[in-house]
Amino acid sequence: MTVPVLIVGAGPTGLTAAVELSRLGIDVRIVDRAARPSAESRALAVQARTMELLRVRGVGDEMLALGNRARAAGLYTGDRKLAPIELHRMPSTFNFILMLAQSETERLLTEQLARQGVKVERGVEVTSVRPGAETVTVTLRGTEGGLELVDASYVIAADGPHSALRKALGVPFPGRTLPQDYVLADLHIAGDLPQDEVSIFLARHGFVAVFPMGRGRFRMMATDPDRRLVGDSEPTVTQMQELYDRTVGVPARLYDVNWSSRFRINSRHVPTMRMGRVFFGGDAAHVHSPAGGQGMNVGIQDMVNLSWKVAMVLDGRARATLLDTYSPERLPVIRTVVRFTEIGTRVFNSTNPLVHALRVRLAPKALGRNAVQNAAAAMFGQVSAGYRDGMLAEGGGGLAGLRAGDRVPDVDGLYDALDLGGLTLFSGVRAVADVGRAWDGVVSVRDAAALAPEGWLLVRPDGYLAAAGGPGDAALLDRWLEQWFVRPAGASVNER
Ligand SMILES: Cc1cc2nc3c(=O)[nH]c(=O)nc-3n(C[C@H](O)[C@H](O)[C@H](O)COP(=O)(O)OP(=O)(O)OC[C@H]3O[C@@H](n4cnc5c(N)ncnc54)[C@H](O)[C@@H]3O)c2cc1C
Repeated sequence: MTVPVLIVGAGPTGLTAAVELSRLGIDVRIVDRAARPSAESRALAVQARTMELLRVRGVGDEMLALGNRARAAGLYTGDRKLAPIELHRMPSTFNFILMLAQSETERLLTEQLARQGVKVERGVEVTSVRPGAETVTVTLRGTEGGLELVDASYVIAADGPHSALRKALGVPFPGRTLPQDYVLADLHIAGDLPQDEVSIFLARHGFVAVFPMGRGRFRMMATDPDRRLVGDSEPTVTQMQELYDRTVGVPARLYDVNWSSRFRINSRHVPTMRMGRVFFGGDAAHVHSPAGGQGMNVGIQDMVNLSWKVAMVLDGRARATLLDTYSPERLPVIRTVVRFTEIGTRVFNSTNPLVHALRVRLAPKALGRNAVQNAAAAMFGQVSAGYRDGMLAEGGGGLAGLRAGDRVPDVDGLYDALDLGGLTLFSGVRAVADVGRAWDGVVSVRDAAALAPEGWLLVRPDGYLAAAGGPGDAALLDRWLEQWFVRPAGASVNER
């Protein structure tokens, strides 16, 4: 029997795909070679855009209840605050970074998935993959060592940075490994550090960043350019205290480490996120510096972009060419994240005294400007990313300067009015609404005389503007739908 979608990997990326696709009525199998979920906190930062998308998909409220909110990131040298990055300026209801351990995010996604009737198959490893014209044949090795051959219409490779699928299909992963060593630990810090701000301490010899996890616990991350912490073992609390005391001017006692690690940064991404019927997402497709806490969020958003397209193609509502838009839409977003995190890493890492002097002098000046603060907050929150140059973007200006491809802001409960299983047409123009109604099943029409009195907005299930136009653009809307979707049976010529 052919399974419509096989998802390989039950990290945040694979779990999001499984939640999305099963919500949309698609049968999925999701397998992970690990016998049990990882207990490591790893990605801590959940960004505003991820919260906007997950809230309407059933897990956002619990995440909010469990996480800690950081509304600013303060830059310091010693005990002197140079400037804050005002994250609360993000143009989003979620105008903060939510600090929540990745293990918790994964647990909540897994529970949502179970509510939708899907269980992660654990201890099941993909050992080989054979692409075919109609299906992909995948070999699974189960806990007892038994092999199973599965034919899948589509495979989602969410199998992490060392992706077996990526290697098996010969997809390159170009980029570089940065030479610096980093350490991190989740621990208690007894001292006068803000509980609602990220604090980044810059020094000539390296940096220390602390991320508030709530109730006195913090993630501390530091560079070790002098290689004081020799060896490969996990850093101890004494070593973290030494790094802290050397760089941070706020006295504190560090204790009760429950997870620590050392790592190097890889900065890489695939040249394409699709190979035939196999789609790559998350760390299988891109890895980069943790600066800015973007990684897990990009993976989750890859899957929100992909899933509605796969679902609509599988249930016959969309043309297969819709799937061609996934990689061209996501790669530019990923390239920007990789570039911006590399620049951030270079600036924070530098041990050059001149660069340090410039950082200390320029940070307050740059961050004193409104435009810089607004752009920085929106970029961290991933709310400025969009698909304007994508193949799907059609038509010109719409509401409040929005252009096709832009993220539609979740204002006045707009996302609660979205059809998360198809396109939503907001129109105050009757002729346009009639076209939308003729595409019943693909398009849900909302009367929106107040929102778009002179025109219309067509919003995708992932909250981006697909197309927009004026009162005379009913034919444009119909043409656009015809290009990507399958006209419902029975729609009359008049309705066109
Ligand atoms: C030490 C550390 C600290 C980090 N800190 C941050 C941070 O602060 N902020 C941030 O944004 N990101 C951080 N990250 C990165 C973040 O954890 C990743 O971006 C995120 O986990 C990616 O999710 P994913 O689902 O794509 O991949 P993963 O979480 O790697 O999940 C892949 C899954 O696939 C499974 N798998 C692999 N191969 C197979 C196979 N052949 N068959 C079946 N299953 C398979 C694995 O068991 C795994 O469960 C950190 C990572 C590490 C290691």
